[in-house]
Amino acid sequence: MTAPVIWWLRRDLRLTDQPALLAALSGKGNAPTPVIPVYVLDDETPRHRIMGGASRWWLHHSLASLDAALRARGSRLILRRGRSEDVLVALAQESGARTIHALHHHEPWWRNAERAVEKRLDLRLHHGNYLLPPGFLTNGSGAPYRIFTPFMRALMAHMPPSAPRPAPDHILAPEHWPDSEALADWALISSMPDWAHGFRAEWTPGEAGAAERLSDFAAHSHAYEAEHDLPSKEGTSRLSPHLHFGEISSATVWHQLAGRDDAGTSAFLRQVIWRDYAQNIICSFPDYGARPAKEMFDGLAWRTGVAAEADYLAWQQGRTGYPIVDAGMRQLWHSGWMHNRVRMICASFLVKHLLIDWRRGEQWFWDTLVDADYAQNSVNWQWVVGSGVDANMFVRLMAPLGQSEKFDAAAYIREWVPELAHLSAPAIHDPDVFGQRPQSYPAKIIDHRAGRERALAAWAQCKGNVGLVE
Ligand SMILES: Cc1cc2nc3c(=O)[nH]c(=O)nc-3n(C[C@H](O)[C@H](O)[C@H](O)COP(=O)(O)OP(=O)(O)OC[C@H]3O[C@@H](n4cnc5c(N)ncnc54)[C@H](O)[C@@H]3O)c2cc1C
Repeated sequence: MTAPVIWWLRRDLRLTDQPALLAALSGKGNAPTPVIPVYVLDDETPRHRIMGGASRWWLHHSLASLDAALRARGSRLILRRGRSEDVLVALAQESGARTIHALHHHEPWWRNAERAVEKRLDLRLHHGNYLLPPGFLTNGSGAPYRIFTPFMRALMAHMPPSAPRPAPDHILAPEHWPDSEALADWALISSMPDWAHGFRAEWTPGEAGAAERLSDFAAHSHAYEAEHDLPSKEGTSRLSPHLHFGEISSATVWHQLAGRDDAGTSAFLRQVIWRDYAQNIICSFPDYGARPAKEMFDGLAWRTGVAAEADYLAWQQGRTGYPIVDAGMRQLWHSGWMHNRVRMICASFLVKHLLIDWRRGEQWFWDTLVDADYAQNSVNWQWVVGSGVDANMFVRLMAPLGQSEKFDAAAYIREWVPELAHLSAPAIHDPDVFGQRPQSYPAKIIDHRAGRERALAAWAQCKGNVGLVE
């Protein structure tokens, strides 16, 4: 029998539109090639970027779903733990495989791992997780784009992406299956305590769940422009964890929707381009999750100490006394996801009103979001702070109470902050002002104006230190 090839999966847990699988299957000449699909739980290579708790919950279910889909095609998923490079070398030796196919991954730790594997094995990398290969687009001077709008224009000139290719009906098995660890032994889901119980009602991880989510959204994508900023409506696709884990390709999303000529669908596809944009930024700035792109932000005097820690905890737990912030942080804890508008409000509140280092917020999101994505998370945090290459200005503080009213968040707050469920608008946005704050709901941890003034003073000092005149 022909020697098997290894198909190495990471954030591309799908069979449809999966160039690495198709390349593995095509092998050499006409003889069908046996394929060994392998997922390596590698907690060593990413070091301090190991997958967070919510992502691990998702991963467990996504791997189970992928294994079932593979078994329906005569194959199965091999699970191994350890450093990717070592595991793959061992697997190649055991199975007689000489070639590995995988999709390119662009997180700095995955690029390191790919380089290490390439030194020891015949690794063939394919593109397939983005609309265009990250790093492909450059501006007139041959440099990567830094600003979103010109990036988007350049990307649009190459659209549509290649048409998605169907999943194979059958995947040839090797003569002998290598041993696999048991998914349950990985303890990716925690039952003591079962903090992810809210996730089950919300999500169906896996390729079938992703396809269903896309087809549900396709029925109302025309309303996206009008509704995507309203947290009380289900106006967005909620495809983010499926896209992050590669259970659906962005090309599939594009092809299903792009023929529609309405403003809502176009606005949605623009957001999908943000995903490509964020990944491109990471290719140029691999440590974007740890270092501000604008170095002067290193000099900003973030608060530390006991009072700051207490504020950070109140933010994490949704006890700030700002209903929209608390609703968002509780939605995040309960469901592993937060509406984009509310992510911006909560992030702005942490770094500006509370003057707490954005990296602490980024880490909390990393641990609690089911869609936690190195590129999208760090690019968006730096956008909110104002420290990114294409960013908001630090002095633009989002007024949480005004935002709550403007984006009609009353029903959203009622859902996530039961202490306030009996209030109607406008009191629900700021119960203090209307004298309607129930005893059970915390008082504001900082007054809006005081928080704003403290943030602006810190910014003025930071600017003064580097002699910046705006
Ligand atoms: C502070 C902060 C942190 C964030 N962290 C993450 C993260 O870790 N992972 C993540 O996937 N998104 C992140 N986002 C972006 C955005 O909030 C989510 O992608 C979006 O809320 C997901 O919901 P959806 O799938 O319904 O989005 P939709 O509005 O339906 O958009 C479709 C897809 O486009 C992409 N997208 C949408 N908005 C953005 C954006 N602003 N930047 C990059 N891509 C975008 C996502 O892949 C999304 O699934 C963050 C935003 C903020 C403000």
